[in-house]
Amino acid sequence: MSITREQIRELAEFHDPRSCAVSFYFQPSTPRNKAHKEDTILIKDLAREALHRMESLGVETKGPESKGPEGKIKRDSARADIDRVVRLSGELRSNGTHAKAVFACAARNIWHEYDLPASLPGTQIFVDRYFHLKPIAYLLGAFPRLGVVLVDRHRARIFDLRLGELTEREGLFQTLSRKGRSDGFAGYDGGHAQRRVDDEARQHFKAVAEILKESLEKGVFEKWILGCQDIHRSQLEPQLHAYVSQALLGRFQADVGHIANEEIRTHAQQIVERWQSDRRRELVGQVLSQARSHARGVTGLRRVLRSLEMGEVQTLLLGENFQAHAVECSGCGHLDAHLVSYCPVCGRATQEVVDVGEAILPWVIRRDIEMFYVKDDPEFDKVGNVAALLRFRSGNVQPITTSVADQLGRAGAAYPGRLRKFASR
Ligand SMILES: [Zn+2]
Repeated sequence: MSITREQIRELAEFHDPRSCAVSFYFQPSTPRNKAHKEDTILIKDLAREALHRMESLGVETKGPESKGPEGKIKRDSARADIDRVVRLSGELRSNGTHAKAVFACAARNIWHEYDLPASLPGTQIFVDRYFHLKPIAYLLGAFPRLGVVLVDRHRARIFDLRLGELTEREGLFQTLSRKGRSDGFAGYDGGHAQRRVDDEARQHFKAVAEILKESLEKGVFEKWILGCQDIHRSQLEPQLHAYVSQALLGRFQADVGHIANEEIRTHAQQIVERWQSDRRRELVGQVLSQARSHARGVTGLRRVLRSLEMGEVQTLLLGENFQAHAVECSGCGHLDAHLVSYCPVCGRATQEVVDVGEAILPWVIRRDIEMFYVKDDPEFDKVGNVAALLRFRSGNVQPITTSVADQLGRAGAAYPGRLRKFASR
């Protein structure tokens, strides 16, 4: 089963204060002899390390959750899930080229398995209070909700591209053909044949433009890519609604009748990757200059966390290898870059967060914040490898639970960034 955005959002909602959430990512090794056996050995090693880390934390941590019955529930739950992951590793190779993700919490009766395209950074196991979603955030970025549209003067084929899978949407071609025939041009006499053909073509391109507009309005896709001959492009594009044109990521040459699906997919992915890399570069420049002028940009972990809590963040930029500790309040959920024992907002005890870049992902996903991972950028490195573009800049400090974003959310208001996009490296 492939994962949907809605499922990712549900995973982002999950929180278990006893740290029973197990996240497992499997990336098959490149095919060669005994690769399957190597994968199994790797998973066993990772499982052993995860259990060891959990046991040693249980001994060292002074927090009440690690001792007594709660600590035992946690260890038993996580151990049961990790054992099950190891058992699963025996079957993983049989599904061929797919990667896999498992999200489990035996204490809460949760076990979700998903197939993913085999482009994960590696095989990993995490045990934490929340599910680790960074590998999926990469995938979403690599494949935003995308339509691929092939047209010529009497045909149109529309495809969905989701997590690397290309699917043709049924019925559209027939609908268009019927519409073309029923528009009444059959009455023209033979002398006007060319004009009739041109009119039919114009009606056809107009109908395609209308379907694209509807698809974007209904959120069927967020961005789209056009495959056609230049001559048809010049006929279709003048018919497009302004925001349909804006959502067009790029074009490639295609003969509607003959192109193979694999070729369509390859062209589309190249266009998406180019677009994302341009967008990322543009955003980094914009955020840094906005931050320098104390306008709609902030840099550094402390300021970015504060802006996230204020609901100000429109786009979050994270260094690909960004790693920083923080603390999380067990009461109100406040995240603090200062490693304080008690929450400055509500006074309750805090818990350590080993990877704050991972801890903020559930927030980012829940709030539809656009996010990009930034790789190898010296300017970005200088400002601490974390920055945000703000949609507004508010004056007063509020804790998360009463932040602007939550108030908006409770009021049912739509966020400006409704269509979130993640970026790959
Ligand atoms: Zn608090």
